[in-house]
Amino acid sequence: MDTILGQVLRDAVWERLDVLSELANRADAPSLLSVARSELPRLTAGWRTLLTAHEPDERGNCPECSTWLRQRKAPCAVWRSAYEHLVAGGLAPRPARHLRPAQQLRRAAPVP
Ligand SMILES: [Zn+2]
Repeated sequence: MDTILGQVLRDAVWERLDVLSELANRADAPSLLSVARSELPRLTAGWRTLLTAHEPDERGNCPECSTWLRQRKAPCAVWRSAYEHLVAGGLAPRPARHLRPAQQLRRAAPVP
């Protein structure tokens, strides 16, 4: 990929991320729900594709990040970044209700 095409590609990705961030910050609830339904599957599919390419080989090295001169042990930077953003960050699933401390559990709102 030449330099200009690479820059166009990177700019398009940054722009898309900016649009999604703007929507997350400013869109009304129905628009946000619509965007979430269309974009979350695309984002998760993208992560899955990326992470599949970075799965360790039989020697425990990342085939994408390794070169013939230097092998990169798994988890590589891509997997560490995925963990940081998807598990340790805000997208981490909440623990099951029975595993949460009692003070974190909210009372159910009374039904009017
Ligand atoms: Zn890798």
